[in-house]
Amino acid sequence: MSILVVGSVAFDSVKTPFGEVNEVLGGSGTYFSTSASYFAGIKLVAVVGTDFPDEHIEKLESHNIDLEGLTKVEGKTFRWKGRYDFDLNQAHTLDTQLNVFSDFDPVIPEEYRKSPFVFLANIDPELQHKVLDQVEAPKLVACDTMNFWIEGKPDALRALLKRVDICVINEGEAREFAGEASLVKAANKILAEGPRCLIVKRGEYGALMFNGDSIFSAPAYPLEDIFDPTGAGDSFAGGLMGYLANTDDVSDANIRKAIIFGTVMASFNVEAFSLDRLGSLTLEEIRDRYAEIKRLTHFEEL
Ligand code: AMP
Repeated sequence: MSILVVGSVAFDSVKTPFGEVNEVLGGSGTYFSTSASYFAGIKLVAVVGTDFPDEHIEKLESHNIDLEGLTKVEGKTFRWKGRYDFDLNQAHTLDTQLNVFSDFDPVIPEEYRKSPFVFLANIDPELQHKVLDQVEAPKLVACDTMNFWIEGKPDALRALLKRVDICVINEGEAREFAGEASLVKAANKILAEGPRCLIVKRGEYGALMFNGDSIFSAPAYPLEDIFDPTGAGDSFAGGLMGYLANTDDVSDANIRKAIIFGTVMASFNVEAFSLDRLGSLTLEEIRDRYAEIKRLTHFEEL
């Protein structure tokens, strides 16, 4: 099954305690698509400017990502600049330049409209709505967001939650959005807005899923060295949605497995800047890490 995704395709400038890069390929749509491409066919909807080089397009194409929905227009590509201190769970945004995204009006190619799985990666919630307006009866819709939009467009975000099945969000942003310090209370408040399932990303502490009465806790993969957390959330969502689309099964038990694949993909992504690690994996490496997490979390019945 294929996945339609809308999200940012960006130039990222990132500084971590371990190094620094300037204007490398990034963006929520880029990380999501690359991660999910190991599991399913991806149709990407986004916009870039005339400064976006062919080599980046080729990189995405090398993952068999369908780029018919990627438009190139006059202007500059989206840019994000961020910094991480030793607490790598916390990104500090230094600058966001929407550029060509500020007046992007996506027209979804005919062939994309029947996509059974839709992922609204972190981007302006009004754009997320515009994409949803054009798709036909998807089987599963999931979304992500961040503080920039929670603070900038809370009403559009609230309305979006009524239209999605799964919401994937960072721990701090879940608390901010719900206005609750308790994560369980925050989750219940967000679920009351519409989605049937909420997945809270907790960086190096893993992920928590609230799905009806079912709660599932997954650890993060214990890496010795984390180089750059940028894109971890999007790679997580890529593994999650990729596995759901690959298996065409959205049961609670399968979402739990998909969360582990999300964890695996995020763990590879943080091992290097940009797509340097995420972009060159083998299925065997992915399966091996899944099995390691299975062993890591195993314990016997009483
Ligand atoms: P994350 O997976 O949460 O680390 O997301 C990192 C990616 O989000 C970076 O590659 C950025 O280009 C992208 N990004 C940052 N701010 C925004 C924003 N306001 N809208 C869309 N994408 C963003």
